[in-house]
Formats: sequence, C-alpha cells, structure tokens
Amino acid sequence: MSNQAENFDADVVVVGGGIIGSAFASLLGKAGLKVILLDAEQRQVNTLKRIDARVFAITLASRHILNSAGAWQRLAESDVACFRKMHVWDENGIGEIHFDSASICQPTMGYIISHQAIVDALQEELIENENVRCIWSVSPSYLKQDTDEIIIGLEDGLRFKTKLVVAADGSNSKVRNLAQIYYQKHDYKQSALACVVTTEFSHNEVARQRFLKRGPLAFLPMKDPYQSAIVWSSSPEHIQHLYDLDATSFHSELAEAFANELGEISKSTDRVVFPLMRAQAEKYTHQRLVLIGDCAHTVHPLAGLGANLGLLDAAALAELIIDSRDRGRDPGRMMVLRRYERWRKGENRNMMYILEGFKYLFENQIQAVQWLRNFGLDMVDSLPLVKHAIMKRAMGLEGDLPVFTKP
Ligand SMILES: Cc1cc2nc3c(=O)[nH]c(=O)nc-3n(C[C@H](O)[C@H](O)[C@H](O)COP(=O)(O)OP(=O)(O)OC[C@H]3O[C@@H](n4cnc5c(N)ncnc54)[C@H](O)[C@@H]3O)c2cc1C
Repeated sequence: MSNQAENFDADVVVVGGGIIGSAFASLLGKAGLKVILLDAEQRQVNTLKRIDARVFAITLASRHILNSAGAWQRLAESDVACFRKMHVWDENGIGEIHFDSASICQPTMGYIISHQAIVDALQEELIENENVRCIWSVSPSYLKQDTDEIIIGLEDGLRFKTKLVVAADGSNSKVRNLAQIYYQKHDYKQSALACVVTTEFSHNEVARQRFLKRGPLAFLPMKDPYQSAIVWSSSPEHIQHLYDLDATSFHSELAEAFANELGEISKSTDRVVFPLMRAQAEKYTHQRLVLIGDCAHTVHPLAGLGANLGLLDAAALAELIIDSRDRGRDPGRMMVLRRYERWRKGENRNMMYILEGFKYLFENQIQAVQWLRNFGLDMVDSLPLVKHAIMKRAMGLEGDLPVFTKP
C-alpha cells in the first residue's frame, strides 16, 4: 500500500477539505492541474439540509471565487440570503452607523449562507472534477521537504511525492506543526455562541450588530424574513451561562440584549460555542509547503471575515500557481510561494489590526473612549465618501484582489 500512492501523479497535495482547501483544490483542478485533497473526516454531501448554526457573511469577492470554483452555481436559491443594509450601534450611547448597498449602486452588500451549504456545494463540484482525487479519514504523520520535491506521509502508511503541499487544515493544523512553523496566538478570553432564531419582526434583509459591554451581538438575516443567525461574543463564563439556559430564558435574555430590535424571540436551534482567538503564522511558506485559510491566520468573527480572507488566500495562490504552470515553470518553486506570502500576509495583518482597533474601541468602558466611539460612528455616518470607501473594501470590490474575484 505504501508505494501505490506514489504512482498517482499529482502536482499539488492539499491537506484539509474545509471551505478554503476545497475551493483551492477546485480552482486548480479546473485549470487542469492534478490535485490530491486529504481530510481527516469522512465527508458526505449533507442531503438532509438541516439548519446549520454556523452561518457566514460572504462578500461579493468571495461569491466570484466560489463561482470560479464551480460551487456558487450549485447552491440552492433557498441556501442564499442577501443583506442589502447594515446597522451597527453601541449599547452605551447614541452613536450608530448605517450602510446601504444602494448608495454605491450595488444590489446587495453580501450574502448569508450556512457553512454546510458551501462545503456541500464544493464537495459536489470536486466529485465531478476528474483532476482532483479526494481521500477522506486520513491525517498526515510526517513531511520530508527537499529542494525539488516534498513527501507527505499519512498515519495509515500511504505517502505522496509531489511538487507542493498546501496546508488548509484549520487553526489547529497538523501540517503546520510538522513543519514547525510558529503560530502566534492571542487568546481573547472570549467565546462566541451561534444559533438560528425566529423573531417577531421581519429582518428586512438588514444585518445588525450591537456592541455590548462584554462583546458584540450580531443578527444576520436568513432567507426566511423572520429567521436570523446570531453570533454573540462574550466572556467564556457568560457564554457558558447563555448556553446552559432553558429556551424561554435564553430567548428573553437575547431579545433584551438586542434592545428588542426585532421584537420577541420565539424559537431557536441548538446553540454552538466557539473559543475565540487571533493568530497569525510567523511565515506562510517553507520549502515546497504553503499555508492558507485559518491554518495561516485566525481573526475575531465580529466582522465576519475569516472565511472571506481565506478564500482570497486560495484565489491568490491558485492564480500564481496557474500562471507559473502556464509559463512552463515549476508551480511549487520558492519564488511563487514568496510572492504569495508577500501578497497575502500583509493584507491579512492589516485586516487583523483594523479588527483589533474596532474591538478595543467598542469594548473599552473609559468615558473618553465611549465618547470618541459615539462621536466617531456619527461622524463616519455623516461622511458618504468615507462610508463608501469602507463598504467597497469590506465587500471585496477594491484592494489588491486576485483575478478570481472578478465577475
Ligand atoms: C462564531 C464564528 C463565526 C464566523 N463567522 C464568519 C463569517 O460570517 N464570515 C466569514 O468569512 N468567516 C466567519 N468565521 C470564520 C470561519 O469559520 C473560518 O475562517 C473558516 O471556516 C476557515 O476555513 P478553513 O477551511 O481554513 O478551516 P476549517 O473550516 O477549520 O477546515 C479545516 C479542514 O481541515 C480538516 N483537518 C483538520 N485537521 C486535519 C488533519 N490532521 N488531517 C487532515 N485534515 C484535517 C478538517 O476536517 C476540516 O475539513 C466565523 C468563525 C467563528 C468561530
């Protein structure tokens, strides 16, 4: 068994078949590169279509990347909700800010889609892509990196020799550990609770976020006008308290924390809890190995950007590798990987600092900072040009963007 896989001719081995690894594998496969995709889980397309508590805000740039990867077209209409407006405000004051896609002549600011629906769509696409071979329930056990090739060995004895290994196995990446790449973590000492709730009033396709003393509470509009996906970030003790509440008490604490903006809460799905941290790998590449997605960086969910940043990593790396192949060059050579690192590491770091600034500004209880944020929110709200620039950046319409983000 151990030599059998070496005969399988792959240009690239991807470890991790989450959204980011699957989208990347699909982009390369569609361009004619041979890819092996490995994942520790047994994956099946989820035909039951249950409501998934993990729901993402997806930018227009990510929509185009998923379209290029062949997944967007496979999403059912009922899986994709739009949000046309966004309303952000602060518990301690009167400052608030509104964003409206119509003000920059766009039909929507972005989309709300469940994690499961995106993974399923990518999965369906990969099954039909003859250049990609998926192997489930496997995990790497060693790497042997050389100048001209890299060997990745699995726990079951299988091993692959290839030009490039792409690590997309999430924030607890085994591949990153095997390559001894340091992942600098900052524990926020916060957790997030997510679930889908039914509200008294329609959300009217508006995404809402209220900054509370202990952290932000977001309501993301789902396809059903009376359903929203919530993400509530707070101290681990408070999140545990919310998790343990019976449904009636949880609904009333949630409605109150949200200032009854959408009225009473009548129903909710199972609650899921995630620990929150910020992290960035000290380097994104090391001799025929490269990191993408949460394996390379993790951000606070307050701006709903983690998967969007990861998709930009996948699109940027795919663009550089395909370009190298088209020029008849080795897709795993260091020059290509370094270009990717220069491109994406800086962009991701900048976004981390911006999110960090927001988090600090909104959680700080010092009177002067409270005044500043209320004043700042109102000031930005009254400056259309500044607001439009922020929106275009956040929606992925401006910036140093890969070609796969274009319609
Ligand atoms: C509460 C919350 C809300 C969020 N909301 C948003 C949002 O609105 N918008 C947004 O863009 N982002 C959001 N994010 C961030 C988003 O969840 C992540 O950025 C994204 O899921 C990262 O995808 P990934 O494919 O890199 O990693 P993962 O989703 O972690 O996937 C990793 C894959 O690797 C596999 N794997 C793991 N270990 C191994 C191994 N040893 N061997 C083989 N395979 C392995 C796993 O099975 C999995 O399939 C949110 C995060 C949280 C916590």
